[in-house]
Amino acid sequence: MRNPLLTGALAGAIALSLGLTACSQPDSQSAAPAPAAVDAGAEAGAADLSANPFMEPSSLPLMAPDFSSIRDEHYLPVMLEGMRLHLLEIEAIANSAEPPTVVNTLEAMERSGALLNRVMRVFGNLAGTDTNTTIQQVQAEIAPKMAAHQDSILLNAELFARVKALYDAREVLELDPETRRLVEQTHLRFVRAGAELSEDEKNRIRALNSEQASLMTAYQQALLKQTQEAAVVVENAADLDGLSDGQIAAAAEAAKASGHEGKWLLRITNTTRQPVLTQLTNRELRQRVWEASANRGLSGEGDTRAMVLRLAALRAERAQLLGKANHAEFALETQMAGTPEAVLKMLDDLTPTVVENAKREAADIQALIRAEGGDFEVTPWDWEFYAEKVRAQKYDLDPEQVKPYFELDRVLRDGVFYAMNRFYGVSFNERTDLPVYHPDVRVFDVIDSDGSQIGLFYADYFARPSKRGGAWMSSFVDQSHLLGQKPVITNVMNIPKPVEGQPALMTFDEVTTMYHEVGHAVHGLFSDVRYPSLAGTNVPRDFVEFPSQFEEDWAKHPEIIANYARHYQTGEPIPADLLQRILNASGFNQGFDTLEYIAATYLDMAWHILPAGTQIDDVETFEREALARHGVDFAPVPPRYRSGYFAHVFPGGYSAGYYAYLWSELLAADAFAHVTAQGGLSAELGNAYRRAILARGGSEDPMQMYVNWRGQQPDPNALLVRRGLKNTSDD
Ligand SMILES: [Zn+2]
Repeated sequence: MRNPLLTGALAGAIALSLGLTACSQPDSQSAAPAPAAVDAGAEAGAADLSANPFMEPSSLPLMAPDFSSIRDEHYLPVMLEGMRLHLLEIEAIANSAEPPTVVNTLEAMERSGALLNRVMRVFGNLAGTDTNTTIQQVQAEIAPKMAAHQDSILLNAELFARVKALYDAREVLELDPETRRLVEQTHLRFVRAGAELSEDEKNRIRALNSEQASLMTAYQQALLKQTQEAAVVVENAADLDGLSDGQIAAAAEAAKASGHEGKWLLRITNTTRQPVLTQLTNRELRQRVWEASANRGLSGEGDTRAMVLRLAALRAERAQLLGKANHAEFALETQMAGTPEAVLKMLDDLTPTVVENAKREAADIQALIRAEGGDFEVTPWDWEFYAEKVRAQKYDLDPEQVKPYFELDRVLRDGVFYAMNRFYGVSFNERTDLPVYHPDVRVFDVIDSDGSQIGLFYADYFARPSKRGGAWMSSFVDQSHLLGQKPVITNVMNIPKPVEGQPALMTFDEVTTMYHEVGHAVHGLFSDVRYPSLAGTNVPRDFVEFPSQFEEDWAKHPEIIANYARHYQTGEPIPADLLQRILNASGFNQGFDTLEYIAATYLDMAWHILPAGTQIDDVETFEREALARHGVDFAPVPPRYRSGYFAHVFPGGYSAGYYAYLWSELLAADAFAHVTAQGGLSAELGNAYRRAILARGGSEDPMQMYVNWRGQQPDPNALLVRRGLKNTSDD
């Protein structure tokens, strides 16, 4: 959610404008590059801003956005005006005749850009939840302008001189810990942008950044070409055995649309594994589909090999200019993990157990192949097909059978809110007097155990065509004592909306996601810091998915589940054996899932740990050697992504960062196990965790903060136990 290169309170706003929020899952693709700018509105100054609702802070409670008066045409002119005013404020700070102080420099920067922040927060949220062509045009027009706006702040030499003076004096200034953190973080942001380099070096950095941006766009476009080139054309309907009638009709439609009328076309999705492989009974077709997927990026117009080599090389060169041994060292400097060695140690610690589990799952699959008379060794294109059969045999679970026990409103009130009440003592009270941007959005006051108001919680749970896919948390207002702001937080999901009068029944995955998102929400709501740039979820990305995955585990807690998992018609509690089958099934195939993820993470690290000037000639050889070196070259379980189509790390913002999901999960697993060992669901434990972790946002070093609460560093075994790959945390 947080881009460490961005400045002050605007970090969140800019991230929002680019469509980033605190919940990217390993599956999610990074935001597509902005299309060519479209002139979607008037220039600043040309528009009449006097009636624009963004010009003054909202007068609603907690400065909640007044959606009753906001219209699409309000955004662009006020964004341009907001940038103009922000730069004037920055100039005034930079050129002040007074000697630099925390108040006249850093706090002034934290306060600056209020108008821009106000509009970007609303706009960023609406662009994800209720978009339209006008909003999309504004998005395309504003993205490059915001990037340039950010550069003009971070490359301001006078401003950096003031920041550096404060940084150099930090030992003698007697700063409180949070202010000291602000001094250090702000200084680091400038340094990482190249503020300390010579003019020649700065020019080289700019050239490398520009080349990287072009290559990332080219790679993104190659990914689209791959999707067309890799699609598998099927000549014979009988080969599609196993697919539903609807899927076969869609494949015929897709074939027609791509000039193969009378045939069938199977599209390739983003990961190496392909969903249709669970269904196709024809082994030869499965092989064709899998090979089409795994060989993406190695030929044709979608060939990305040269881009991979060049991106790795230029990132290494930039890291060297900035005084780092390699790009991973540069990227990890602002993360909790801190160093490439720490990431590799986490992976190396997990690998033997994970590989062992994957081999056990492979043996189950192999046994089933033999039992069915198959005379072949399990391959990647067999795995999902047979794993699905093993799952059905082992767990006997029909998702439709469980949904009546997970009715949305009951899950929300008697599950999610109930858990937050038991653990933190807080209550969620619905209110209907605040305007919302869509009738499906609900608003809740969040009230502390002493009756005081913590903030506002918006819940937007139903899917609609104007909303992007997935689930995420975001904010309209960040908590800050400096600015006198309480948090206004939102959760978004994509649960299918039932027809009028019918209940919304959820899958257990959706239930878990609802707990996950409220975990991000309480991270924002319980924030108790002075500076907005350090508030709530403004933390490293390998930390941000920790509070969310921590709360997930309440969904399975016996006392919580007894309170919410009840039949929507009869009120009967969920039968014990059905519940047990749900819980058992959630540990299924975790060896495969974890190993494919770890293998991709090793690839990401291998490319980004290369010193500047390393000559790599062949992408495939490099990959093969990296996987073998780390002991994850188990043929039936290939990496989740290969270099040719690794959207997170080559065109996306996760270079040397794909590990972050697992790092966060390790913290969540260790933290939840720690709470459980101390007695679990008590407000005393909850409030200790809230004060030490959730309230602190990014105001302390994350590992220090964790160790202060936990008493030790996290135990890597906790992750294996959470994923069902190990029975206990002993040894
Ligand atoms: Zn998340």
